[in-house]
Amino acid sequence: MLPKEIQNFIEEFSRLPSIGPRQATRLAFRIIGSGLGKVSALADALEGLKRIRICSQCFFVHSSSAASAKEGSPSANLCSICSNPERDHTTFMIVEKETDVLSLERMGKYHGVYMILGELTKGGVLEEYQKSRMSVLKKIIEKLPEKKAREVILGINPNVHGDLTASLLKRELSEHAQRISRIGRGIPIGGEIEFADEDTLGHALEGRN
Ligand SMILES: [Zn+2]
Repeated sequence: MLPKEIQNFIEEFSRLPSIGPRQATRLAFRIIGSGLGKVSALADALEGLKRIRICSQCFFVHSSSAASAKEGSPSANLCSICSNPERDHTTFMIVEKETDVLSLERMGKYHGVYMILGELTKGGVLEEYQKSRMSVLKKIIEKLPEKKAREVILGINPNVHGDLTASLLKRELSEHAQRISRIGRGIPIGGEIEFADEDTLGHALEGRN
């Protein structure tokens, strides 16, 4: 009964997390109702996501249109944080999600670099892709003049999965860092870095241990 174009839209959008077929259907009609200009703007925004690349060091996002400007240079596949010489490249914070980086950057008190590990679904066990991200981190650390990070901060959410994984990461990185700390004070158990306000995050960073 629905035109094929709308069916396609519903099929694609209902595959996205937290959007079901009913919501996708409602969304389709909302967008159609808001006119052709809005449809083009949305299509451009989606198209733009094709130019997004993943940083080869920390796995945060960056735009390939910015990267191609410096193509051939070693910083071609680095995000704006990893390619920033003003950052402290001997201090690493391991976080679960891109949105954690956004919250921490908004706070503005952290000047090291990051490593996005991916969401922890099991306590104390890393997925294969997470293991390979950890080896990328170790390789970066081994290339440092001292072959050790000055500090690795575990920005892992305080819950059962997070606590078990934090102990695992501490063991894994013990040879690779002069200091391994964990932020947490001030973030309630079961709370999340992503949703903590700037003051809470600031205290959590200062009170790391
Ligand atoms: Zn990066």
